[in-house]
Amino acid sequence: MTKSYNIIEHEYDVVVVGAGGSGLRAALGAGQAGLKTACITKVFPTRSHTVAAQGGVAASLGNMGEDKWQWHMYDTVKGSDWLGDQDAIEYLVRNAPQAVYELEHWGVPFSRTEDGKIYQRPFGGMTRNFGEGPVQRTCAAADRTGHAMLHTLYGQSVRNNVEFFIEYFALDLIMDGDVCRGLTTWQLDTGDIHVFRAHLVILATGGYGRAYFSATSAHTCTGDGNAMVLRAGLPLQDMEFVQFHPTGIYGSGCLITEGARGEGGYLTNSAGERFMERYAPSAKDLASRDVVSRSMTMEIREGRGVGPKKDHIHLHLDHLPPEILHKRLPGISESAKIFAGVDVTKEPIPVIPTVHYNMGGIPTNYHGEVLTKKGADADTVVPGLMAVGEAACVSVHGANRLGSNSLIDLVVFGRAAGLRAKELVKPNTPHVDLPASKVQSHLDRLEKFRTASGGTPTAVLRDRMQHAMQEDAAVFRTGETLEQGSKRMTGIFQASSDIGIKDRGLIWNTDLVEALEYDNLISQAVVTVDSALNRKESRGAHAREDFPNRNDDEWMKHTLTWIDLTSGTTNIDYRPVHTYTMTNDIAYIAPKARVY
Ligand SMILES: Cc1cc2nc3c(=O)[nH]c(=O)nc-3n(C[C@H](O)[C@H](O)[C@H](O)COP(=O)(O)OP(=O)(O)OC[C@H]3O[C@@H](n4cnc5c(N)ncnc54)[C@H](O)[C@@H]3O)c2cc1C
Repeated sequence: MTKSYNIIEHEYDVVVVGAGGSGLRAALGAGQAGLKTACITKVFPTRSHTVAAQGGVAASLGNMGEDKWQWHMYDTVKGSDWLGDQDAIEYLVRNAPQAVYELEHWGVPFSRTEDGKIYQRPFGGMTRNFGEGPVQRTCAAADRTGHAMLHTLYGQSVRNNVEFFIEYFALDLIMDGDVCRGLTTWQLDTGDIHVFRAHLVILATGGYGRAYFSATSAHTCTGDGNAMVLRAGLPLQDMEFVQFHPTGIYGSGCLITEGARGEGGYLTNSAGERFMERYAPSAKDLASRDVVSRSMTMEIREGRGVGPKKDHIHLHLDHLPPEILHKRLPGISESAKIFAGVDVTKEPIPVIPTVHYNMGGIPTNYHGEVLTKKGADADTVVPGLMAVGEAACVSVHGANRLGSNSLIDLVVFGRAAGLRAKELVKPNTPHVDLPASKVQSHLDRLEKFRTASGGTPTAVLRDRMQHAMQEDAAVFRTGETLEQGSKRMTGIFQASSDIGIKDRGLIWNTDLVEALEYDNLISQAVVTVDSALNRKESRGAHAREDFPNRNDDEWMKHTLTWIDLTSGTTNIDYRPVHTYTMTNDIAYIAPKARVY
């Protein structure tokens, strides 16, 4: 039975999908520019995953000793293992201090130094004077920085007349040839379908950590925007680069911020040895995340893991003064108690590398405009479509993101998208006519899942996908595991046609939401594994045991991956890495060996 849907139409200048840090910053910028702006979100804005960010936001304020944007740039380029685009990285680090002051003036309650300045802590891979020693660059509101930012940005968006559509699930982009003209959404509490016409759609839908079994990200992090882009026939970029955070709590996957090591915490193996001194003699526990996660995995593999199964590592904070823990790390002290039963003032926390961040995503330039490759032009702008935040791949993080560089990415590029929107859109420009058939395929997809009566529940398919990803696209990869992963993933993709759901309603149908989210995840999982199988080198978070070295001659390029949604097969092409800077104020930073 085909259902007739109740369709409600809206017209906006700009529609932002997502109310995390990046979506709110973009929406409030568009609002400030006098554009009629809607922000659509499947969860209440302050429940977006940004709320869980702990450690802080990077900017070279120099409040705790000298710092410069040039040093931040060098660290980010090196952290990216030379896959980041240096024009975009320059844009990020130069605009970072101003973006943090803006947050401060809007009301983010940052922790303070004795003389009242914003408190900054050291984070992994952040150095002074181009690699000479640690620098304190990460601005923090205790260990609840994302929470503070998100609440402030929500308030400011409301103040700037952004109209919110809360608990609306975005389904698909309305494409008119190559141009994006809006999107369709499903209102979860009424079952109505809302069609939003827009001159600009800004995707700010976050990462897809939940393609894996053990992830620090919220269960809502299913990369819906990335999947909408794939369904629009556009590619995703650098999806093989998945960051494992060194310190997820063993068992639950809950995050212990890198700020814990920034405040003096350290890792030990079963012999009680501070093993990071062997792998990264100068940065030690504050080497970048890919390096620490690999070192931990090596210790466990070589039999020096802790616990009865020797399958994890200890993180010590018990040597730090309890008042510092109370003041600077109250949230993680509580998490360690709840999720590991550990009193951090007395015992070490059991930790293990856990999926944390997606460097890959929707390719954009540093104005937030979505790019695709057409013929020889690898930087073709897709009119009407932008992306920001973890969903986007600008690319500033390249093959590995430095801790605290995501929160700054959200506000710097959220702001950039708002500025670009102001240039591109004249308020209240009329919308072009579009035939209703443009949204029919979106409704057909919804209807297919709503009436799905196959024999395999969503949960079973999701579990198979998550375990396959965890096993075959892990911290270390080989041609063999990836080959196997690719076959398994194609199998699961095809088995998805047997999906069955039970609830046929449209009101608060969580069964249907989960099926749609699973469908979004599986296409990204396929793209991730195939991109990883294709890249025959090791770079940043992508560590191939069969190709242990970085190969700049052949592989200093971005992967672009398209998927055929009937067969689940992928098609791969490349974009050159931008080996030039934005201005002449700093020269291109040439590749060299990456040691910490
Ligand atoms: C536990 C944890 C701690 C972290 N700590 C730090 C840190 O200290 N410093 C740092 O720099 N980075 C940190 N990160 C990374 C950083 O927090 C994230 O990368 C960032 O917050 C992502 O923000 P975002 O705006 O891209 O998306 P999110 O905050 O994930 O928000 C996504 C938004 O999209 C909406 N959405 C998604 N799909 C749909 C759909 N289909 N329909 C409608 N709406 C949709 C959601 O409702 C939500 O509002 C941390 C990450 C985690 C998981």
